[in-house]
Amino acid sequence: MGFNVIVKEDECIGCGACIAVCEDNFELKDGKAIVKNEIVEDIGCNQDASESCPMNCISVEEV
Ligand code: SF4
Repeated sequence: MGFNVIVKEDECIGCGACIAVCEDNFELKDGKAIVKNEIVEDIGCNQDASESCPMNCISVEEV
């Protein structure tokens, strides 16, 4: 059990909002957000990051 965190890179505008609320698991690379750990045991701040994204391009799904 855990969560699968994915950024749809082609939709990311590199605004940094997800990093501002969840630098534990997101970072900017070449102007796009990338997820440090796509599978996490605890949802932590990942849901907050998803909700902060103006492009709605972060998915957090229970796996
Ligand atoms: S909040 Fe969304 S658009 Fe902004 S950097 Fe993160 S993934 Fe990209």
